[in-house]
Parts: sequence; structure tokens; C-alpha cells
Amino acid sequence: MRIQVLTLFPEMFAPVLDGSILGRARERGLLDVETVDIRAFSTDKHRKTDDYPFGGGAGMVLTPQPVFDALARLGTEGKRLVCMSPQGRLLDQDLVRELACEEALLILCGHYEGIDRRVLDYFCFEEISVGDYVLTGGELPAMILIDATARLLPDVLGNPRAHDEESHSLGLLEYPQYTRPACFRGMEAPEALLSGNHKRIRLWKFEESIRLTRERRPDLFARFLENPGELDKDEKRILARLLTE
Ligand code: SAM
Repeated sequence: MRIQVLTLFPEMFAPVLDGSILGRARERGLLDVETVDIRAFSTDKHRKTDDYPFGGGAGMVLTPQPVFDALARLGTEGKRLVCMSPQGRLLDQDLVRELACEEALLILCGHYEGIDRRVLDYFCFEEISVGDYVLTGGELPAMILIDATARLLPDVLGNPRAHDEESHSLGLLEYPQYTRPACFRGMEAPEALLSGNHKRIRLWKFEESIRLTRERRPDLFARFLENPGELDKDEKRILARLLTE
């Protein structure tokens, strides 16, 4: 997948893009991310990229000229154009899955009070938000989007089954995780997980997923109940029992 990021602060990206799983994915050619400095396209003699908002109001607005020129140079053909914005569609795992199927993304990061609306309208940018709160710029949201998307790309994670049981993959939160030692400071890991009995382990995980989702995310749980997918008879029995508790 190829991702281009238009930003006023390209230097913010290196620590995230160069490290850990993303860094390895880029080294292996699974992910290509290019950061493009919007300021480099400013025709202003001081390389200014912002100006006062028409109609007054706090803060400054990113001017259209540098972004238009950057997009003219980079091209938009065949790319999904995304602008990080607190006014956009909320990023969730369904949207991440959709983005992971794209060949090329172009992500625009706003700053200050935002971006001149004509940029978004002219290029038909799709606005995506990482949550109902306001950050100082689109750089952190862009990194969240890139990270969540990249880990769904083929071969990026060592174990391709890693996604199967994760939170949000099947509409439920993931069960709690434990590792060695089996007993730490008197606290035992659940016996079922140490039993070696695959069916018992699978059903323990299912039950804990259901419990956790019901307790922490009643909204997700209600959606899961509407469409629980293919459950076997043991899972149906567990679900029915939990619903009577
Ligand atoms: N004045 C804008 C408003 O009230 O909607 C907020 C602008 S914010 C201070 C500056 C930039 O940060 C935005 O243009 C956007 O790129 C980014 N941003 C802030 N919060 C965000 C969020 N929750 N999701 C995605 N991007 C966000």
C-alpha cells in the first residue's frame, strides 16, 4: 500500500513510522509512506501557510494555495483522499478494513483552526475523525489511521490469525490475556487456559469476550445480539446462560 501524507510537521512522523511493526513493514516493502511538507509548496516569500479566518474568530486557517499546488504535483488519480478532521466519520474497525483494501491513500493533516473549506470541496476529500475530541493537528490522527490500517495488510503481522479474535474484529471485545508464570504473587491464571483442552479454551475465551463486551460496551453487545453470526451449539448455550444472569 502506498500512503502520502500532507502535513506542516513531517518530522513528527519518523518516530512512529520508523519503529516497531510499521518500520519493519516499510523495510520489507509492504508499506510505503511518504510525508510531504505543505510549507514547501507555499509561494509566499516567508513560506506562510496560514491566514486569518474570514468573518473573524479565533486562530488561523490553512490557506488553499500550498495544498492545491502540492496536490497538483502529487496527483490525485487512483488515490483515496482523506482529510483528518474532528467533523468526519468516526474511524472504526470497519472503516479501517475498508481503507486496508485501497492501493493508495493520500492523507491531509489540518492544523490551526482547520483548512480552507474550498480545498476539501474541490478535491472531494473524505473527512475522518479519530474521536469526539479536538487535537492540535491532524498528524496524530493520521498516524493512528496509518497504524490501524497497516497492521491489516498481508504479511505485516507475523501471525495472520492475530486479527481473528482481536477486539472489534467480530463485534466483541477480546477476552483477557495471560502469560507465564501461571501463578504470579499468588494470582493464578485461569485454569481453563492451562488445561490444554482446545475446546474448553475456545469456550472460555468466547464467554469472557461476551462478559467483557456486555459490561464495558453495551452498544457493541446490543449490535452483536442482533447479528451474532455463526455460533455452534456450545456457544449458543453459553450465550443463553449469560443472558439469564
Ligand atoms: N476548528 C476545528 C473544529 O472545530 O472542527 C478544529 C481544528 S483542529 C484544532 C486542527 C486540525 O487537527 C484539524 O484540521 C484536523 O486535521 C486535526 N484534528 C483535530 N482533532 C481531530 C480529530 N478528533 N480527528 C481527526 N483530526 C483531528
